[in-house]
Amino acid sequence: MVCLESGLIESIYIVFYKRHGIIDNIVLESLYGYFKKKGDSVEQMDNVGTTKNRDIQEYSQPWFKDGLRFECQRCGRCCRGEPGVVWVNKREIEEISGFLGISKNAFAKNYLRSINDRFSLLEYSNGDCIMYDNGCKIYDQRPCQCRSFPFWRPNLENRTEWEKVKKTCPGIDKGKLHTLKDIEDNLRIHERRFG
Ligand code: SF4
Repeated sequence: MVCLESGLIESIYIVFYKRHGIIDNIVLESLYGYFKKKGDSVEQMDNVGTTKNRDIQEYSQPWFKDGLRFECQRCGRCCRGEPGVVWVNKREIEEISGFLGISKNAFAKNYLRSINDRFSLLEYSNGDCIMYDNGCKIYDQRPCQCRSFPFWRPNLENRTEWEKVKKTCPGIDKGKLHTLKDIEDNLRIHERRFG
């Protein structure tokens, strides 16, 4: 009976954790209440997030916990053919204009468009990025949006989404292994800018 109850509580915990990615205070309170009723010590109760639930923690690891391979093949598929936006902020404008050896004004005039108080790289009428000329002209100084691809939240939802992107990007599952930490750092940077 105790086992059954414990299993039930843990199941609720897993479902909640998986759905929200956080331990809600209300859930934590009820878990504390449950263990207190059972007569566990404070130390044991404090194990709610550690040893008692090691299995749960492992269960809650993302599907890409062992890392993912990606190395850009510089094929340009993601830079051409479809209309889109490539956002650049003030710092990137300074960095890219410096990289090109031109003034910020010249860079803005020749390469940028303004959309709702933000700036995006221009594109040609066929959808190609203005920076694409048989390869990316600013690859070593490319904006965060390009640099963080393909580690964007929608692409990492599950393996199926990752496989879908793989059909359009030949760099996926090739080359360098990006660790879970690399990927999560990248996600944080991307979401701080675009989330
Ligand atoms: S489609 Fe993938 S491999 Fe090709 S340029 Fe874009 S990121 Fe690189």
